[in-house]
Amino acid sequence: MKNPRIIVIGTGIGGSGAAALLAKAGADVMVFENSGRIGGKTGAIDKDGFNVEVGAHISPRSHKGPLGDLARAAGFPLEFYSRYPILTFFYDGKKKLIGPNLGSPMNLLRFALLFKPRGSYLGLLRFFLKMRSFKSEEDVKPLLGVPALTFIREYIKEPNLLSFMQFVAGMMFTLAPENSSAAYFLWCFARWFEAGASGYPVGGYGIIPRSCMDICEAHGGTVHLSEGVKRIVVENGKVTGVETSQGFYPADVVVSNAGIARTIELAGREHFPDTDGKNPDKLADSEGNIILQYGLDGYKPLETPTCIYMQKDASISRLIKKMRNNEDIEDAIGVFFASPTVADPSLAPPGKHVLLAVTFAPADMLDHERNQRYLDALEKKTFEVFPGMEKHILWKRAREVGYFAGQAGKRISGTVGMAQSWENDFVDRSPRQPVEGLYVAGTDTGGINIGTEAAAVSALVTARMVLEDHPVK
Ligand SMILES: Cc1cc2nc3c(=O)[nH]c(=O)nc-3n(C[C@H](O)[C@H](O)[C@H](O)COP(=O)(O)OP(=O)(O)OC[C@H]3O[C@@H](n4cnc5c(N)ncnc54)[C@H](O)[C@@H]3O)c2cc1C
Repeated sequence: MKNPRIIVIGTGIGGSGAAALLAKAGADVMVFENSGRIGGKTGAIDKDGFNVEVGAHISPRSHKGPLGDLARAAGFPLEFYSRYPILTFFYDGKKKLIGPNLGSPMNLLRFALLFKPRGSYLGLLRFFLKMRSFKSEEDVKPLLGVPALTFIREYIKEPNLLSFMQFVAGMMFTLAPENSSAAYFLWCFARWFEAGASGYPVGGYGIIPRSCMDICEAHGGTVHLSEGVKRIVVENGKVTGVETSQGFYPADVVVSNAGIARTIELAGREHFPDTDGKNPDKLADSEGNIILQYGLDGYKPLETPTCIYMQKDASISRLIKKMRNNEDIEDAIGVFFASPTVADPSLAPPGKHVLLAVTFAPADMLDHERNQRYLDALEKKTFEVFPGMEKHILWKRAREVGYFAGQAGKRISGTVGMAQSWENDFVDRSPRQPVEGLYVAGTDTGGINIGTEAAAVSALVTARMVLEDHPVK
């Protein structure tokens, strides 16, 4: 019996994680990555000695969550900066520092005092008690198919607190809360609070996929960068290999990190009966992001690796609507900032810092002019939040919404891939596909989880399933 030949498409956390685990188990693994660098949305590049992450993240559960589990299973060290204060919160001209245990009574009180939600204290308490009662995924099943906003509104009436909760729900899945799934929102929020360990990886996010690829290569795996897969070849209901610009590569197993919808396109829709709930036209992506990256000299913008700036009445729905209508967003913009050099100063030359500024944007906003208009608005807000920063900029880079789509050869650019919406609640998110030997690893198949953590869960589950179906000697 020969060991299975496994091809992995993509090096995001889902793809690189599965590749590491499969190579470590003894499988023969070959990885193809469309872009010239490893890591997908958690990749990083070197710019003049600065480690610049292409996304901007916060880790909800750090070492206590799936990223820690993946590192332990693959066998690489992963440390998180997870201490007080982890997050700076700017709201209505006020600033609060928040610790990693977001659900602690102290942190909740800090938030509550900012909003003074006079009429909503009881509702807020009921909301948290309800959330804490969700102990298993079975408990949230009755909420499948229900929008997150419908649930939140039942408990929280005070307008400022309501807009804050909408903002949090929107941020979690990069989706307006009227579209997000209540089951996902509550389950993820409950696990986040329960772990009490928000953090930032030391070495930056790029270290996670890079370490996974190192493990894969150390166990004989090979990685082909800038060689995208054009087609997954299927014969008689079974994968036989992939085609890239360099030709055909045979395989017994293909693990795709390209997302469910794109994988269906690569393999051919005829192999995915609609009865499986996997019609790519219906598998809408989440919304997207625009990003500014700055290298700063002699200016430390934050004391915390992460920061949220929110205006009164801000909501992702309003922001996205304004962008779709090509309107001014000055009064609606909210921003997530990350400064990885706070968690790990070695990510930049001594005395220098990286600041990443991110706001939401429609996933299909692909025209350059509109992207530029809103990147300008994002920069204006960034300079307002960090006065004096302008004079310390060594370099700046901007990422339009289409950046990640371009990298992955997709049509639109959802931040987490397939939306975690109530409409997608009933889509089969199992990594196993109806084609023999074909699996999807990544956020799309990571169960009820947040972005990077979903991708890590998916890597673990996919590797286990592949090894069950195709044992290694
Ligand atoms: C700005 C931003 C902020 C975010 N904030 C957070 C956060 O705070 N917390 C959090 O947990 N998550 C966050 N996320 C989401 C998180 O980054 C993603 O959900 C997760 O990293 C996706 O991992 P993945 O394995 O599914 O795939 P991806 O990272 O999307 O990687 C897929 C890889 O596959 C490659 N690929 C695709 N098609 C092909 C092909 N045909 N051939 C070869 N290669 C191919 C792509 O080039 C890419 O490298 C954020 C994302 C962004 C962009």
